[in-house]
Amino acid sequence: MALKAEILSIGSELVSGQNLDTNAPWLARALGELGIAAAYHTTIGDDMDDHVAAFRLAADRADLVLTTGGLGPTQDDLVREALAKAAGVGLREDPESLAAIAAFFARRNRPMADRNRSQALLPEGAEALPNPIGTAPGVWMTIGRAAFAAMPGVPNEMKLMFAEQVVPRLRLRHWVERVIVHRKIALFGKGESDIEADALDLTARGHVPEVGITASDSTISFRIRGEGLTPEAAWAQTEETAEQIRSRFGPLVLGEGATDVADALVEQLKRTGATIATAESCTGGIIAHLITAIAGVSPYYLGGVISYSNQAKTDMLGVPPELIREHGAVSAEVAAAMARGTFERSGADLAISTTGIAGPGGGTPEKPVGLVYLGLATADGVETRRIEIGPEQPRDIVQRRSAKQALNWARTTLLAWPDRGASR
Ligand code: ATP
Repeated sequence: MALKAEILSIGSELVSGQNLDTNAPWLARALGELGIAAAYHTTIGDDMDDHVAAFRLAADRADLVLTTGGLGPTQDDLVREALAKAAGVGLREDPESLAAIAAFFARRNRPMADRNRSQALLPEGAEALPNPIGTAPGVWMTIGRAAFAAMPGVPNEMKLMFAEQVVPRLRLRHWVERVIVHRKIALFGKGESDIEADALDLTARGHVPEVGITASDSTISFRIRGEGLTPEAAWAQTEETAEQIRSRFGPLVLGEGATDVADALVEQLKRTGATIATAESCTGGIIAHLITAIAGVSPYYLGGVISYSNQAKTDMLGVPPELIREHGAVSAEVAAAMARGTFERSGADLAISTTGIAGPGGGTPEKPVGLVYLGLATADGVETRRIEIGPEQPRDIVQRRSAKQALNWARTTLLAWPDRGASR
């Protein structure tokens, strides 16, 4: 007979509707991926009798019970005690959990409150589930016919504990025989529909492995889902499709995992050993921020200026005032002069610039909101690009997308440069 799982969400703020329960749907999907169907979702408030009654009912009707919340140190955190009551056993202090909780506070140079000691209590016969990123350990135990996993309410802590502690225990029981892996390949430089049009064979329903496509801030991601009896087999199932995507989309491919444009640019800077500097007007420092958010970039990013006013463009970058008067601050000529000025003054191998109309005001028929000129200067000279993010886009989108376009231009330029040390 198929396994039945029950997911139990605990917290008065959930039953009252104040907070949204995102843990239960996440767990239901995660179980589903592993081939275990959730048969019941239950939500209870911070009441001891309700806890015990719900645990007993779950122990009676389910094989696997996953609870989240109620493991904290405060009086309304009742799960440990309620599990013991439902199982008809006592509580004992678990020395290893106590040591882990004490170490958690020591690492933060904070004294451990007495009440945190209660988080080291375990029902007799239960096992602690370590929580490396929080104070509350989870609980693994059997009540009646059901295996219980009690996890913290904090979503990040719960997800890690589920993956690292609960899933391996389900495997030990042979409740989970399959392994599922997700690979994400990020692309930038074309719209989602264009990319999808070139990948219809891969995203078609029934394709093995399953391939999905998502977009976030103009970065398009292919998600490949592989399945097998071992992690190696699941991974192998995705390999050919991943390779097809890489070869088909070539320079659009940023990389795998959480990679975005700035990460991929920094990878190219490291590969080539090139240095970069920035001059930003309409993006107001977003490019500098995105670059400096990547650890280890300091040898490659020399710096940047936010030359927002016309005066600053002249004073900081040497843009001739007559150029601004003649063409306007938002023009290819000024973008070029900004990039050239930055290239010369910084001594970087590559300089990028932005000047545009972020909106919502300031647009004209010739120069609408969303119009941005990018400049790129290298020893080979200066080039500019005109991009239009769209007059209906809000200011932050115009800024973020044009910043990413500038980063991507620098990235694709570097793709053609030789490895560090080789001659150009
Ligand atoms: P900890 O001691 O690690 O904080 P806990 O088990 O005591 O964990 P709770 O105190 O119940 O957890 O919840 C902590 C926080 O986690 C809540 O304030 C809420 O933001 C979040 N949380 C709890 N349950 C859920 C849920 N079902 N879905 C989404 N978020 C939740």
